[in-house]
Amino acid sequence: WAQGEENNMLRIVASSLFRAAQAHQRCVGRGLNALFIGQDHATQQHHHGLRGISHAEATNMYVREALNELKYPERMQKMLITPAREMSVELVLHKENGDIEVYNGYRVQHNNSRGPFKGGLRYHPDVDIDDVRSLASLMTWKTAVMDIPFGGAKGGVTVDPKNLTERELEKLTRKLVVAIKEIIGVYEDIPAPDMNTDARVMAWFFDEYSKLKGFSPGAVTGKPVYLHGSLGRESATGRGVAYATREILKASKLGKVADKTFAIQGFGNVGAWAGEILTEMGGRVVAVSDATGCVHDEKGLNIKALRAHMSKGSKLADFPEADKAPANTLLETPCDVLIPAALGGVITAENAGKLQCRVVVEAANAPVMPDGDQVLRDRDIIVLPDIYANGGGVTVSFFEWVQNLQNFKWEEADVNRRLDRKMTDAFQGVWDIHQARKIPLRTAAFALALERVTQAEVHRGFD
Ligand code: NAD
Repeated sequence: WAQGEENNMLRIVASSLFRAAQAHQRCVGRGLNALFIGQDHATQQHHHGLRGISHAEATNMYVREALNELKYPERMQKMLITPAREMSVELVLHKENGDIEVYNGYRVQHNNSRGPFKGGLRYHPDVDIDDVRSLASLMTWKTAVMDIPFGGAKGGVTVDPKNLTERELEKLTRKLVVAIKEIIGVYEDIPAPDMNTDARVMAWFFDEYSKLKGFSPGAVTGKPVYLHGSLGRESATGRGVAYATREILKASKLGKVADKTFAIQGFGNVGAWAGEILTEMGGRVVAVSDATGCVHDEKGLNIKALRAHMSKGSKLADFPEADKAPANTLLETPCDVLIPAALGGVITAENAGKLQCRVVVEAANAPVMPDGDQVLRDRDIIVLPDIYANGGGVTVSFFEWVQNLQNFKWEEADVNRRLDRKMTDAFQGVWDIHQARKIPLRTAAFALALERVTQAEVHRGFD
């Protein structure tokens, strides 16, 4: 750090957000396009339609937009974007049919200036290092927006768990723990569930880690409630999505959840809980989809009945109490609030023009690509960004970690009340910046996060 630069940094930290009202206002619409400048020709062409842009590139574009808004110098930008550590491991599995299979596993630790690395573990055939890198960075910004004392990390295995028996899945998980054990731990890096991983997987993780390092319930979150997990953790991300939806509707003067219609893509942990809690709040969920199909009902789907139907192992598309449609029609459902809660990268320039909603609440990670985001901005569709909207999961993971450190269990009502408070406070932080700087909610959320991470970096020093 050149002399004076650190002081400059401190000045930026001190002055930027809370004096945002006086800050000069940029032309919002030009924001994302401006970020293509400086990229080589092939990349620009690639980005022109942005088809095929990686999730990591997409995340970095959003981060850079906020960095430009905050006018951070290039060196600071590089430090904030580059991951602290990346680990790739080979997992060899002796399958029950006698075959030997090799899987790739990853853990990317992005930033720990605010506390231990924290982030989920994903089992999916599309997992690669680039994907994990982008998700790790999102976790840094998410924990900062939610103001919980963690950094950001992510991990995953390139595997389709549907092709494994339960015993094989357990063996694979235990192999993963052995492979990454030296870089994780209660105060080092704390994994959690993500796509295709659940409390059962976290229980194996906790058990294997404890065998290797001694009893350590705080080394992983999202564990079963009867095995050092937190009440309310399973529903936390979906519940947080519902609270976030309530806040955005209120702040943008669009009314209450109870007057609104919702369409939800993905009916896994996040989508199903968000649907159930929005229904409890009086909302009408008119369509949901998963990988097998889409069901809809203008009068509002009976989400509890749909969950019961699926818990018997039946396909969503076979739900008898609703009309059916192909899975890919969900995003174009007329509704007030669209909630993508499945995969990343599902809304692009190609389909963003066809959305028929007022608000998109990003329950999944990175569901809207930058070219799609630009179209939504041009159409005045409000996008509540992932780093805030799905922050309920990591927030209750934090509560679980605290309970593990305390050796104490909180009541579920306590967990939900604290979650509501965290979601409401974080929303206010993002909304204030959005209003003061006249920038999109996504840029405001990244700006808030960058500010908090930079503050930690600067005050800890660089030696
Ligand atoms: P999950 O595995 O429980 O559910 C994923 C759902 O997406 C399933 O219903 C699946 O059928 C559906 N799906 C897959 N491909 C689809 C397609 N092409 N069209 C429609 N649906 C499709 O996963 P989850 O835990 O609910 O996570 C969903 C998203 O939320 C992910 O992006 C994840 O990163 C994010 N997220 C999860 C948590 C958490 O606590 N679980 C926290 C934050 C963010």
